Amino acid sequence: MTIHTQQFDNSLFNGSVSVNTNLFIDGEFVDPLERHDIEVTDPTTGRVITTIAAGGKKDIDRAVEAAQKAAQTTWGKNVSGTQRSHLLFKLGELMEKHSDELAALEALDSGKQYVNIKTMDLANAINTVKYYAGWADKLGGKTIETDPTKFVYTIHEPIGVVGGIIPWNFPLMTASWKLGPALATGNCVVLKPSEVTPLAALKLAELIQEAGFPPGVVNVVPGLGSVAGQALAEHLDVGKVSFTGSTLTGRKIMQSSGNSNLKRITLELGGKTPNIIFDDADIEQAVRWTFAGFTFHAGQMCTAGTRIYIQEGVYDKVMEQLVAAAKASANPGTGFDLTPQLDPVVSQTQLDRVLGYISSGKDQGAKIAVGGGRLGKEGYFIEPTLFTDVKPDMKIVKEEIFGPVGVVIKFKTEEEVLRAATDSTYGLSACIYTKDVDRVARFVSALETGNVYVNVVSMPDYRVPTGGYKQSGFGKDLGEYALEGYTNVKAVTINHGQKL
Ligand code: NAD
Repeated sequence: MTIHTQQFDNSLFNGSVSVNTNLFIDGEFVDPLERHDIEVTDPTTGRVITTIAAGGKKDIDRAVEAAQKAAQTTWGKNVSGTQRSHLLFKLGELMEKHSDELAALEALDSGKQYVNIKTMDLANAINTVKYYAGWADKLGGKTIETDPTKFVYTIHEPIGVVGGIIPWNFPLMTASWKLGPALATGNCVVLKPSEVTPLAALKLAELIQEAGFPPGVVNVVPGLGSVAGQALAEHLDVGKVSFTGSTLTGRKIMQSSGNSNLKRITLELGGKTPNIIFDDADIEQAVRWTFAGFTFHAGQMCTAGTRIYIQEGVYDKVMEQLVAAAKASANPGTGFDLTPQLDPVVSQTQLDRVLGYISSGKDQGAKIAVGGGRLGKEGYFIEPTLFTDVKPDMKIVKEEIFGPVGVVIKFKTEEEVLRAATDSTYGLSACIYTKDVDRVARFVSALETGNVYVNVVSMPDYRVPTGGYKQSGFGKDLGEYALEGYTNVKAVTINHGQKL
């Protein structure tokens, strides 16, 4: 199917891009066994871009079967790490070659700015694939000394079939975070992109085919979460599910695993990142990072810094600058602007949800310092919004909003802010802004989050593990640590002397 991007003057990508909108199973694009289509919408306009085929339970069954066959014949233990490395590297190169199309497709269905996708999301995705290409021929176990009559060692074996279930906020990035380590370690994958943003993942499937991966090694099956996602999570022949998405769905995945074959799971879930600015911080920088932290991609980031704690000595100054930045940035983007503009939220559902949170903040007595409404009549844009006068038990303080909405809290002491910052069911990441190195050490130790950022906003790097504490999930994506989640460790003991 060929999709035409909107035509704008001064646009970065004027034209059309083609993508196969069928299911990618066993190395081919195929129709679903029972035809269902899903409409894909452009969040900057609210208009339908195209429809794609939706996979059902039977399609997941055939994708898992193809993956299992590949794991036993053409992949897994049947190929060397060097061969896996070469194929992954080739995929990375093809992603680079087709970066305009990948970025355009992601801009179209996610509403993200094309320019940001090129420089951030896609750059991260390509680097991730190449990074794990580098790991594929460097994996191995350990020898373990026990007693002189034994030779003991471990080998790391692929799990077999891995299900990758990914969200709509970072489609290309999260696809690469699942594919890279799974393929490097010799697993086969059934990738279930979000039904809201499936286009870039389908293009990726074309590149996987072109790179020459044996059929069945990677299968891409978009579909509804409650149908295709659940079928994958429950499948008896899937050895692991690596999931990124909401805590609510994470619980369901855990139940599906428990009710089926106790498959291994990695859960990268939601967050409510505390963003703490101390009096001694470089205020200009702290404000810029903080602003990006709660507004980038319209706040639709698991690590969005939406609980903003400001020490009393700089409170007024920081607020003045944050409010000014919010007002200045309230410009809806087309997705293809030359300089980045504001992103919309991804769907009508998400728009209603975020506006519902804003209403609940007002109803519970919080005050709006800036923003608070929808922007324009077309598309799903929301003004960057800050609440003050909030109480710890308000919904807007406790729950993940997933929109450009932050709550601001003034504090006096370290003890007070630490207590407030850790008072959360989430534990994904935290940001602090200060020049005091002793304080940094105290906070790094005391914060109950999987990632801590000092004088910088939360941002994923393909070399650095990411993943949560508490109800933000468990297991890691990215870096060397992610590899641990994709192998079974076999310990071998060879007796060459002990007699009974
Ligand atoms: P979501 O949980 O609604 O959906 C995520 C994926 O799960 C989609 O592909 C969906 O189709 C599928 N799904 C839905 N129900 C399912 C079920 N019953 N069984 C199996 N799969 C099912 O999340 P979303 O709205 O797409 O994404 C936003 C969420 O993702 C936020 O909570 C955000 O914090 C989280 N997120 C976390 C990270 C991280 O690294 N921790 C990164 C990005 C996003």
